[in-house]
Amino acid sequence: MINNRNNKLVNKDGGKIKGIRGEILTFKADPFINDPEQCYDHLEDGLIIIQDGIILEVGNFCEVCEYYPELNDIDHYSDSIIMPGFIDCHIHYVQSPIIGSFGETLLEWLEQYTFPMESKYRDKEFSDNVAKIFFRQILEQGTTTANVFSTTFEESVDAFFEESQRYNTRMISGKVLQDRNLPEVLRDPDTDESIEITEKLLKKWHNNGRQLYAIIPRFAPTSTNRQMELAGNLYQKYKDEGVYLHSHLNEAEEEIDWVKQLFPESANYTELYNSFKMMDNRSVYAHCCLMKEEEWQLMHDSGSAAAHCPSSNLFLGDGEFKYWEAKDIKRPVKMGIATDVGGGTNFSILRQLNEAYKVAMLKKKNIDALKCFYLATRGGAQALDLENKIGSLAPGYEADIAVIDLKATEFIEWRLKFTDTLFEKLFVLISLALDNMNKATYVAGKKVFDRERTERFIYPDKL
Ligand SMILES: [Zn+2]
Repeated sequence: MINNRNNKLVNKDGGKIKGIRGEILTFKADPFINDPEQCYDHLEDGLIIIQDGIILEVGNFCEVCEYYPELNDIDHYSDSIIMPGFIDCHIHYVQSPIIGSFGETLLEWLEQYTFPMESKYRDKEFSDNVAKIFFRQILEQGTTTANVFSTTFEESVDAFFEESQRYNTRMISGKVLQDRNLPEVLRDPDTDESIEITEKLLKKWHNNGRQLYAIIPRFAPTSTNRQMELAGNLYQKYKDEGVYLHSHLNEAEEEIDWVKQLFPESANYTELYNSFKMMDNRSVYAHCCLMKEEEWQLMHDSGSAAAHCPSSNLFLGDGEFKYWEAKDIKRPVKMGIATDVGGGTNFSILRQLNEAYKVAMLKKKNIDALKCFYLATRGGAQALDLENKIGSLAPGYEADIAVIDLKATEFIEWRLKFTDTLFEKLFVLISLALDNMNKATYVAGKKVFDRERTERFIYPDKL
């Protein structure tokens, strides 16, 4: 049993205690580099005790409930597995309206679909509407934290964080920096001013409630040297306050060739970011498909993280991410899983795990369910340098929780009868995952999404 009972005794706020009961799975260490059997806790009939949005205790129901005779608010889930809320390490909320746009590879796709759509976000009302839809999609899937691109305009950043504040979700986002090689309407008109706006937004949103700020150069080809330099300096100025650096790296061959033309003096793409002081323990790079060994080494040495985006890489026909290289035990790199919507084709982290398995199998490597669910939860938290706050169900952690349905469809329920072990069961869930796998989502202990409730989404202050 894992407990923090003393916290309850000294809690000053005297907040109401809530329980969530059912089968529970949570991770405490990285199964890629440790004995997998020692990396997780699994409770057949567990109880999570929550107070003021924080987990007080997790343990077997019959043991824990004895210590809380006053507990009368328990949500009981049978035929489900309760897990930490999922973590999406890279997603563009502003691209929600272009998921499923037909038939282009990365650079044409950006030109044809992404840039025209992103130019609309100067309009605050448009941004607000997309942010609202976006949060409903990810919360429905059980995702409670995401590392999110907005776009050039302040309005797109404010709209995102305002909606996140309403749900009290722990989110990371910021203004996208881009001052060349894209349509004028999306370009930062003045490089110095783009950094001033970034710093202003950072001061407004970083650590405002649960919100966290990221400095986001879109990718090296769309920033001038000056913007890269200023963005790197700004990151160095604020990184000790928990600010992030978020960008794209080594996604597609055509992109890498372009980087070589634009920055011929750089040894490689990763070293380019490093030369602008953008590699550190809160730097997150999406894709990392086509990496050389020295680039992985640099990721490891700097503590930077890779966000694996399998459905996007398949959809845009890009490189194949090699998790066994990322997680090479000699120099493991922090790694999370990501949808990369709108290159990714859905908001479901479970469905990304399904695609991640297939991407690995293209190289005759498998990835088991234990490692997959680690990536979806604690691995993602580690990639975002938040593994002491989110991604696990343990005392002191923020109570962000997903409830995965073992009877989401008639066939899933039937298929699971032919499994014997927990990890067989989990692998079936990944393989058959649809968009309706999650029953309920808790954010800081509040049930903001409930599939069965008449009003499925409710802001926590209305609960
Ligand atoms: Zn992306």
